[in-house]
Amino acid sequence: MSYWLHDQPGTIVVQPTTLCPMDCTYCYLSERHLKQEMTPLVAAAIADSIGSSWGPVEVVWHGGEPLAVGVERFVELLTPFEPLRKAGRVRHQVQTGGGRPITDAWCDVFQLYEIGVGVSIDGPGALNRHRVDRGGHAMLGRTIASIDVLKRRSIPFTVLSVVGRDGTAQAGRVLDFLRDLGAPWVGFNVEAKEGANSDGQTPSIDHARRFWHDAFEWHRENPDMTVREVDRLIGYFGLSREQRAEDARHDPTPTIGWNGDVVLLSPELLGVRSTLYSDFIAGNVLSDDLPTIIARSADLLYVQEFETGLENCKQTCEFFAFCQGLHAGDRFFEHGTFTATETDHCRNSVQAPVLALAELLRGKGNG
Ligand code: SF4
Repeated sequence: MSYWLHDQPGTIVVQPTTLCPMDCTYCYLSERHLKQEMTPLVAAAIADSIGSSWGPVEVVWHGGEPLAVGVERFVELLTPFEPLRKAGRVRHQVQTGGGRPITDAWCDVFQLYEIGVGVSIDGPGALNRHRVDRGGHAMLGRTIASIDVLKRRSIPFTVLSVVGRDGTAQAGRVLDFLRDLGAPWVGFNVEAKEGANSDGQTPSIDHARRFWHDAFEWHRENPDMTVREVDRLIGYFGLSREQRAEDARHDPTPTIGWNGDVVLLSPELLGVRSTLYSDFIAGNVLSDDLPTIIARSADLLYVQEFETGLENCKQTCEFFAFCQGLHAGDRFFEHGTFTATETDHCRNSVQAPVLALAELLRGKGNG
């Protein structure tokens, strides 16, 4: 076990299907056109392999489009987790891209199994134009219709929102839109080169700085809505030096594919082919349990390289104390190795918000 890696994950990501009926222009999933579905046998193996000593684990059902498996199969996949959920040892979260409508039948499942719901939506009008179906048709109206069903059923939801280059000048407009939709919590992902999205036009750090500057200003006027990155940064500055140093180990974030294969560190690595890194597969839950797979992770080349990358960050980057090296996958997708340091993602999602907040605190905002 590497000293910098937790032996107990706080989150595991589960892929019930590789299929996604949508075709978002920035999507990183290379197998999203394939209908490969998890069986209840694999779900049972995941539930069985959750360490008995682990604290509560968040099980995030991600895709593909998780709702594409249909209500009946989804319930079959949830069933093996029931003893753990009822004992308070797992809680479920589903992240839907809107590729399948949220119906009352889905709402019944969300309520019965106490599933947190996250919806992906990027903003109003043309800001959501990258989210399209396989015919190239806009998804915005259908996603809002799904949100309306959640609201009618009084089911709270969170939002994940991708910020493209054009969105970086419109933080206030996006946040007004999401607030008016009724989202109490939003996390922003500034678009990056990942997986199949290797040729996307990603924002520069100056674009991102403008976005975060405006987001901080917006949040000052709208403190009731949680903006993940804003809260994280403000929270960090509120910690004592001892609290900051307390436990900076990385969550191994095991991500389990439809067939039981496990990748570690970054969900985006699942399904990516690489001879050098053996497709990033750390094991399979049908033959090994998760504690065993995590315990032997130090043998994996990409985990070893990421450790070197973290050390390089620590030695060279003034943002390391806050950042702690961020995600492994971004380094690979941008540089082809995990030993690299700076990426578009860390410039735009770590450095840019820190610089924007520093500018605001100095009273030199450029907004
Ligand atoms: S901001 Fe980038 S270069 Fe700096 S520590 Fe984080 S990942 Fe490393």
